[in-house]
Amino acid sequence: MSDKTDKTDAQWRKQLSPEQYRVTREKGTEPAFTGEYHDCKDTGMYTCVCCGAPLFSSAAKFDSGSGWPSFTCPASAENIATETDNNHGMVRTEVMCDTCGAHLGHVFEDGPAPEGLRYCINSASLKLEHDDD
Ligand code: FE
Repeated sequence: MSDKTDKTDAQWRKQLSPEQYRVTREKGTEPAFTGEYHDCKDTGMYTCVCCGAPLFSSAAKFDSGSGWPSFTCPASAENIATETDNNHGMVRTEVMCDTCGAHLGHVFEDGPAPEGLRYCINSASLKLEHDDD
């Protein structure tokens, strides 16, 4: 896992809640329909809860019915890293924050047109910075 921030495990534990730590630093998954943002319709930028990098715009958020925040595309492709994940008897594509290596979720090829992608992201990995208006 890349971590351009060079924070130690102890520093992450201190900065994050136990659930945020479990999801982002230990590749955990929050239970569906329990996260802060799965049903959130507010406008703004979803940033990395660990390092603050801008990850997903609310403009790309859609209601997938999955119980996790879902996006058609990242705010900037450079801020996202992906990796093949063969765990749990499935072949999936893991999505991470490129800056700090935080586990965010997975991307699936069953999203709405035209991109056809569904970034399925844990609320615990995100912090919504609301638009000023
Ligand atoms: Fe990050």
